Amino acid sequence: MIRFERVTKTYGAGTAGATTAVDDLTLEAPTGRITVLVGPSGCGKTTTLRMVNRMITPTSGTITIDGRDTAALDVAELRRNIGYVIQHAGLFPHRTVVDNVATVPRLLGVDRRTARARAMELIERVGLDPSLARRYPAQLSGGQQQRVGVARALAADPPVMLMDEPFSAVDPVVREQLQNEFLRLQSDLGKTILFVTHDIDEAIKLGDQVAVLRVGGVLAQLDTPARLLAD
Ligand code: ADP
Ligand code: ADP
Repeated sequence: MIRFERVTKTYGAGTAGATTAVDDLTLEAPTGRITVLVGPSGCGKTTTLRMVNRMITPTSGTITIDGRDTAALDVAELRRNIGYVIQHAGLFPHRTVVDNVATVPRLLGVDRRTARARAMELIERVGLDPSLARRYPAQLSGGQQQRVGVARALAADPPVMLMDEPFSAVDPVVREQLQNEFLRLQSDLGKTILFVTHDIDEAIKLGDQVAVLRVGGVLAQLDTPARLLAD
């Protein structure tokens, strides 16, 4: 479980331009479930995600994973256990698809052949045609690039995944395919997922639980998205 306990992030604290992006957030993301944070642009979604893998340091409060304070962990070890997927896949442009996916295992010391074989399995698993494996990212469609991004994040088999609007930059038809494949994949893998979106329909479709954020705090926290429809 990922737990945020009274977490606040103020950019430029103590200056005239101080912005409190996250204000006193307490939230639990249960193990093996998809927790969606939904809300308008500027409400602090990206900031919240990036505090989990310590790309951003909270101003106050604590974030724990399975009871361990993330601030006390070795940051490299922390990040090995956390996959991260962003809106534009952020692939390495000068590496082929298979080498993009194999990058993290290689850095962890897995030999080239094993890393590539595993990468090929993941490439198929996320619904990509294996014939695309030798291409470079620029030779893929946006939807294909996002699939590679998901495969790359899964390559180290992290128990936790942070997903920041991963399906927002593709057209609606492809988005729906990606969402459906993601749900199928997750029903096999059972990762602990924090998923950020501004799209309420996506939140309801994907979330085992949904937290509705607004600028300045949490509006509602719902155990079951069905309740969101009822409210
Ligand atoms: P969207 O969520 O609509 O795709 P972005 O992710 O580009 O938009 O940005 C979200 C919001 O956060 C925007 O209002 C943007 O202006 C603001 N923002 C993002 N990064 C910064 C930053 N480094 N400094 C100030 N504001 C930022
Ligand atoms: P969201 O992901 O919901 O769009 P963000 O976390 O990107 O929201 O941003 C929340 C608020 O913090 C916004 O007001 C944004 O302008 C501000 N912000 C984000 N990043 C920075 C930054 N690096 N420096 C200053 N302000 C920032």
